[in-house]
Amino acid sequence: MTAKIIDGKAIAKEIRAELAKQVAELTAQGRTPGLTVVLVGDNPASKVYVRSKQRACEEIGINSTVHRLPEETTQAELLALIDQLNADDTVHGILVQLPLPGHLNEEEVINAISPAKDVDGFHPINVGKLQIGTASFVPCTPAGVVELVKRTGVSIAGQHVVVLGRSNIVGKPAAALFLKENATVTICHSRTKNAAEECSRADILIVAVGRPKLVKKDWVKPGAVVIDVGINRVDGEIVGDVDFAEVQEVASAITPVPGGVGPMTIAMLLKATVEAAARG
Ligand code: NAP
Repeated sequence: MTAKIIDGKAIAKEIRAELAKQVAELTAQGRTPGLTVVLVGDNPASKVYVRSKQRACEEIGINSTVHRLPEETTQAELLALIDQLNADDTVHGILVQLPLPGHLNEEEVINAISPAKDVDGFHPINVGKLQIGTASFVPCTPAGVVELVKRTGVSIAGQHVVVLGRSNIVGKPAAALFLKENATVTICHSRTKNAAEECSRADILIVAVGRPKLVKKDWVKPGAVVIDVGINRVDGEIVGDVDFAEVQEVASAITPVPGGVGPMTIAMLLKATVEAAARG
């Protein structure tokens, strides 16, 4: 069997086109969605991410503002800016690009963002609501993973989903989202006794570990759907957490890296901003 390659780029494009229509409708009602991104310091990767988020907003008509603050910004200055954005009715979504410089307290900053504008879904209120199943905002990458699986035509209810990785931004919220979709969910991590065996029982395998090509052919049940969240730079090349060439031979569908989950993350950020504006 050779797996179908799930084209995240094409699916994200389709979503952006749908969102552009909603943005036009909201704009006609005088409610143009607005996303504000706060970038502190000079982290090169963060600068690239922020630029692509801004470009994606502009392409579909979302108002995007970027506050670029110097590395030496104090906690008090950053919190004051967040207060100001929380109170600004033209700002529907606030995103503080992580990681922050080491002297800043990330947890306090996330907690300061109004849960009603927390498009990243990192505020503890939104994390808790995700567990209850009532979240308005969920972390964009796992939201993108679920959307990708759905738009590939894979039914989730009743399937065994194994999530490899338990980070707060990918693994744990992915598990909660698949549970909400009525999957049977197993979470594996670095202390799991036999991760390969656990993974080989998955109908849908979600991999988010940050270990280049960790998942091999014998970790995957024939016919499984494999979603690779990993982004690793190896010898100047971007590779996932799944050994794509090997696993492609056994899976029924698989995401490439790049071009799989990556483009979905920004599409989900745009979707969250549009939904926030629609809620008013
Ligand atoms: P993270 O915070 O480093 O978490 C990694 C998780 O993997 C941890 O739960 C860790 O277990 C587990 N793990 C590590 N090695 C393992 C092993 N050998 N066997 C089983 N579990 C193992 O990473 P993350 O933020 O979730 O990101 C994961 C990957 O996704 C990275 O490559 C990252 O670049 C990528 N990513 C992509 C996007 C996107 O837009 N496509 C967005 C976010 C992240 P413990 O908890 O026990 O330590």
